[in-house]
Amino acid sequence: MLTGRLSAHGATERVPALLDQVAREETPEAWEELWDRLCLHGETVSPASFTALPRLASLAPASAQALELASAIVRGTMQHRDGEALLAGCPDAIAQLRELVDRQLRTSPADYNRIFGDLLALEGQYHWSAALGDFTDDFYTVSCPRCGAEVTIAIGDYGNYSAIRDWDLGDIERRALLPTPAEELRDLGHWMHATAVRDEQHRLAEGIRHVFGRAECPTCASVFSIADAYTSANLPSAPAAS
Ligand SMILES: [Zn+2]
Repeated sequence: MLTGRLSAHGATERVPALLDQVAREETPEAWEELWDRLCLHGETVSPASFTALPRLASLAPASAQALELASAIVRGTMQHRDGEALLAGCPDAIAQLRELVDRQLRTSPADYNRIFGDLLALEGQYHWSAALGDFTDDFYTVSCPRCGAEVTIAIGDYGNYSAIRDWDLGDIERRALLPTPAEELRDLGHWMHATAVRDEQHRLAEGIRHVFGRAECPTCASVFSIADAYTSANLPSAPAAS
């Protein structure tokens, strides 16, 4: 652990020089080194990562690499105990990145869902950023708010259902999900759905209607909001160590 901390400290000393370097000339080696030092394995962030955000944001209009790295750092905000406070220190960079990512989404890029996740993180929706898949075969585990049963939610090609997951029998006691009609979506669900529809991402839009819809608990038959149950189980501040 100690060596890890020392090397992490030493690792960030070169960041300003590396940023100068990619500003002059982008090389794969320099970007690779920046990723290693600012967002190792795409998730490990440090105070130096947030310090680099304004510079990355200024490079981002002309550099897809800078935009991707900056977005990955923002996604990693909850990985660092001071992440939110550090992020709050650079609102201009966040606003700039949000606009660039939104503009990128309007072009319907091939990796739309990843970039949509970047936008969610830039909006402060970290757990949705981490949770949303591509709705080809997504599974969520939530607790029934009434009886506490562990309920598996499936959204995708295998079907849209709530079920009890049995290790031997698979998903049993399936109940069809109750997606929310688009015009009844509110707040975050409304915004996410409208963004996906705007960009003609129909599978994503349908998935969002289901995630922000309701499910029936196979155990007690109560009907509950999937998003609320998921959020209460995954709110970043809720289960922190005490
Ligand atoms: Zn229940």
